[in-house]
Amino acid sequence: MRQSLTGRSVVITGGSKGIGKGIAEVFALAGARVTILARHGEEAEAVARQIGHAAMGLAGDVTSLDSMEIAMRQAAARHGGIDVLCANAGIFPQTALEQMTPDDWDHVMNTNLKGTFHAVKAAVPFLKNSDQARIILISSITGPVTGFPGWTHYGASKAGQLGFMRTAAIEFAAYGITVNAVLPGNILTEGMIGMGAAYQNTMAASIPLRKLGRAEDIGFAALYFASREAGYVTGQTLIVDGGQVLPESLEALKGEV
Ligand code: NAP
Repeated sequence: MRQSLTGRSVVITGGSKGIGKGIAEVFALAGARVTILARHGEEAEAVARQIGHAAMGLAGDVTSLDSMEIAMRQAAARHGGIDVLCANAGIFPQTALEQMTPDDWDHVMNTNLKGTFHAVKAAVPFLKNSDQARIILISSITGPVTGFPGWTHYGASKAGQLGFMRTAAIEFAAYGITVNAVLPGNILTEGMIGMGAAYQNTMAASIPLRKLGRAEDIGFAALYFASREAGYVTGQTLIVDGGQVLPESLEALKGEV
């Protein structure tokens, strides 16, 4: 599976930290030429230098279609086109629904959902020229499967990505582009560390495998969707969560009969 990514050009939005950085490392080790996009271009460049393997870092803000179009053109020029887009950039501020303002709502939607649209729209003209074209969305279990207080806007944005995916998969099938989504559970990233140790410990205790995921766990799932071997899989989701969505009750979580 790894060989099928050798020399492929892979663009990862939000690749300077967390899950996106994990995806970038996994793809670079698989021989891909990775472009990392983030608002802070210097951080993206530093991570690319650290990763090596012809990785490149660029400034790019998913809330702006212009910014995505400029970044995709630069990535394609440097790496000879684009074969894979990982639309990963996302934010998850918590706000109770009763206190949520329209600006809070728009901020999350503009990054997570409209940002997905911008990244995909800007990458498709290049993906159309690839013989192994893949779009991989990083959604979440929150929204599509579960709920969590403070995340009505976030959950809606992550569920919205899947609605987007199902129609995009049909439209882009004509070009041989597959569109799939990875749904992470709780992954230990910079963003997650910011939520505090208490949150992390509570979440780990609610997961049958009893630990948070690693960014590279999401990278390996994305690598599967990007592979030649996954060429007949489109419009599908893969949950990577240590079994978090499985227990029907606290009793079930104990795993005892
Ligand atoms: P993170 O550690 O906070 O990193 C976020 C990345 O996105 C950074 O590289 C950040 O760089 C970039 N970013 C933020 N806003 C951006 C924008 N407008 N344009 C371009 N890049 C932007 O986040 P994470 O935990 O890795 O989450 C990554 C994705 O996984 C998100 O879509 C999230 O919803 C999803 N997810 C995460 C978890 C988890 O447990 N961590 C669980 C389920 C789903 P800049 O600040 O420089 O832009």
